[in-house]
Amino acid sequence: MIQKVLDRQKTASGNEIILTDAGGDGTTVLTIGVFHGDEPSGKYLTESFLEKDLHPKNRLLFIPCLNPDGFLNKTRCNSNGVDLNRNFPTKNWISGKKDKYFGGNTPASEIETMFLIRVIEKYKPDLILTLHEPYRIVNYDGPASGIAKELSKITGYKVEENIGYPTPGSFGTYCGIERNIPVITLEFAPTVESEDAVLPIETPENLGCLYDKVMEYLADSSIF
Ligand SMILES: [Zn+2]
Repeated sequence: MIQKVLDRQKTASGNEIILTDAGGDGTTVLTIGVFHGDEPSGKYLTESFLEKDLHPKNRLLFIPCLNPDGFLNKTRCNSNGVDLNRNFPTKNWISGKKDKYFGGNTPASEIETMFLIRVIEKYKPDLILTLHEPYRIVNYDGPASGIAKELSKITGYKVEENIGYPTPGSFGTYCGIERNIPVITLEFAPTVESEDAVLPIETPENLGCLYDKVMEYLADSSIF
């Protein structure tokens, strides 16, 4: 696909976050990989999907790797030790303990968080897909139950409305619940050994097929 870099941002460690546009002029779908640095598949899957020769109807925007510092360090958090998925300025934000779920010293304290907020305000996506590992579920926030069901059919992963533990300051709460933008959190099978990845590890090839099917559906669908 022809890609255009729309925006870029340096992190605290000097690595770059990139927003790319893969064309199309229908509804805008923003896909975000690697909120958590130890969940790297979103970056690989997106990069290999972008090599395909497709002409999407919808406008597909991608942030293949939101957390390049964590990705390079193989850590959940960014280089300041903040869990980006707990750093959004929601009503339920808390700083919390300085563990792997640390919400930051203040809401939206992190460059990555501010970058994503800026992208959403500027490009106004109609649907947002965030890529995580390792639970093999489709989770959603905001008005996204229809699309969640469709993605469940495609992936074979169950729809889970509630992920089962509190997530103060999460991106899903910020966009889906507080701003009414449909947000899908796609939890892929794990591809690498990690603390959370107690489930069998999926091969990148199988996961690639699954991801491509999801994106091909989103590229042309008009259900949202
Ligand atoms: Zn995650």
